[in-house]
Amino acid sequence: MPHRPVLPHLPAALSHFPAARKTAPDAVPEVPGPAPKTAVVVGGGMSGLIAARDLARSGLSVTLLEAGPDLGGCVGAHSVAGLTLDSGAESFATRSRAVPDLIEELGLGHAVVQPNRDGAWLQLAGEDTAASAQRMPQTGLLGIPADPRAPEIVQAIGRTGSARAALDKVLPVGSLARRETVSLGEVVRTRMGDAVLRRLVAPVVGGVYSSDPDVLDADSVAPGLRAALAEHGSLAGAVASMRAAAPAGSAVAGLAGGMGRLTRALEEDLLALGVRIRTGAAVTAVGHSGSGWTVSIAGDEAPEAETVTADTLVMATDGPSAAVLLADTVPELAAARPGPGPGVALVTLVVDQPDLDAHPRGTGVLVAADVDAVDAKALTHATAKWQWLADSTGPGTHVLRLSYGRALSAADTAVQPSPVGRDDEDLFAQALADASVLLQVPLGVDDVVGWDVVRWVGALPSAAVGHRERVAAVRAAVDKTAGLEVVGAWLAGTGLAAVTADTRTRIAGLVEQLGRQ
Ligand SMILES: Cc1cc2nc3c(=O)[nH]c(=O)nc-3n(C[C@H](O)[C@H](O)[C@H](O)COP(=O)(O)OP(=O)(O)OC[C@H]3O[C@@H](n4cnc5c(N)ncnc54)[C@H](O)[C@@H]3O)c2cc1C
Repeated sequence: MPHRPVLPHLPAALSHFPAARKTAPDAVPEVPGPAPKTAVVVGGGMSGLIAARDLARSGLSVTLLEAGPDLGGCVGAHSVAGLTLDSGAESFATRSRAVPDLIEELGLGHAVVQPNRDGAWLQLAGEDTAASAQRMPQTGLLGIPADPRAPEIVQAIGRTGSARAALDKVLPVGSLARRETVSLGEVVRTRMGDAVLRRLVAPVVGGVYSSDPDVLDADSVAPGLRAALAEHGSLAGAVASMRAAAPAGSAVAGLAGGMGRLTRALEEDLLALGVRIRTGAAVTAVGHSGSGWTVSIAGDEAPEAETVTADTLVMATDGPSAAVLLADTVPELAAARPGPGPGVALVTLVVDQPDLDAHPRGTGVLVAADVDAVDAKALTHATAKWQWLADSTGPGTHVLRLSYGRALSAADTAVQPSPVGRDDEDLFAQALADASVLLQVPLGVDDVVGWDVVRWVGALPSAAVGHRERVAAVRAAVDKTAGLEVVGAWLAGTGLAAVTADTRTRIAGLVEQLGRQ
């Protein structure tokens, strides 16, 4: 069964928390009650914005502190050639209701759009790059085929690879389904062999998680897959059953105008709920005493250290920052402290090139690691993927986004430099050359009407083997401290669906806990 997070039911505003909303002008003035409980949320990415909103809706008086100049974290926007484009996340998974429900609540339901159904292509290694590209098989899960004998799978992994993959049907399940933790790479390699792993699964996983299948925890990135393997006796059977159980239609959706609209809608809602929002406010220390929390801020708006006090603290940062800031209060976090995650550089090109109107590679290309002719790990043809964007550029003008930050196994990290260190001009030239090869349309500097480089460091935490156990240990440690919650992708898993569902569940639990005090 696919993982289907249950949406939390937020308790109605707790009676002893005076509501933060305005009273109607003709309402009988309320007798002033006790001061509302206060909360401080550290981090203004998606998890922090959602946490602040759900706390404020429950009647708490909330302050949100974000280190950067803008809210949204990975859900940001930038302007390239006069277009407002997503600088990070550009879509959300629709297999759970988490994000669609939030979008409806914010009144943005009308703006939800489906991507072009053409799908992406796969670039494999080969002398002739054009001949080594094919449509990405659409019947798999994270690139794992439901039918290893299907023609498009044979095309991708060859007859020998397909024959090895088909052994999955007859191999005993063995300990793979029973072991406490196992990497996705090991599951795929053991069942279907190396060709499926390298040529199908690694390009997909690299594109989505910027990570290597041998690093990733199978249960975290493909919840339910091992249970389905045990039930059906083969990995192909497990994938087929999980796909059959998924809702029909596209697995992702976006917002007309870009995902940055979600950040803006959340910000507007927070302001309407009376949340105090501070950007440029990096939290440098957190103290805890019997009476609550003291948070120290330094930043553009507060060059001198300044403090904010609150009854409740929600830490909604990346994992390493949370572990450092809570080192004194929750020392157990140090042991579960995640690595910083891979660095990713995204190069956006806006080009005038009518040959791209034909969408030569559908919505984009995922690139296998052994393709020497190209450095990028993925290319999104944004104007082919999103009609709203094509409508805003008009024919002939195209938006391409290339991502750099090849999935690294732990052993490779030392030898492969992060793309984040490459300078902008170098990445721009590389992106132009890579796009020409991947799209089979020559692109020159004169075709470019605008470009930008955005770097993300540590924004895609790896759910490494043993991730679920580490998350359980973190949560057990955090739960021992009253008035504290820790949320964010490093615990929930990468992706807006995971972050939204998990944050809402955790904040609902926190509000319930506060109501009992
Ligand atoms: C390039 C890219 C593309 C992606 N594409 C997609 C996609 O298409 N679909 C999808 O579902 N997901 C996508 N994701 C993943 C998704 O965007 C993230 O999983 C999610 O947004 C993470 O939210 P978060 O709030 O946990 O973390 P973040 O967005 O990282 O927010 C954490 C915030 O905490 C702040 N902070 C850190 N330390 C401090 C401090 N000391 N004081 C104050 N503030 C602090 C940071 O500045 C940041 O704003 C993408 C991610 C990236 C990087």
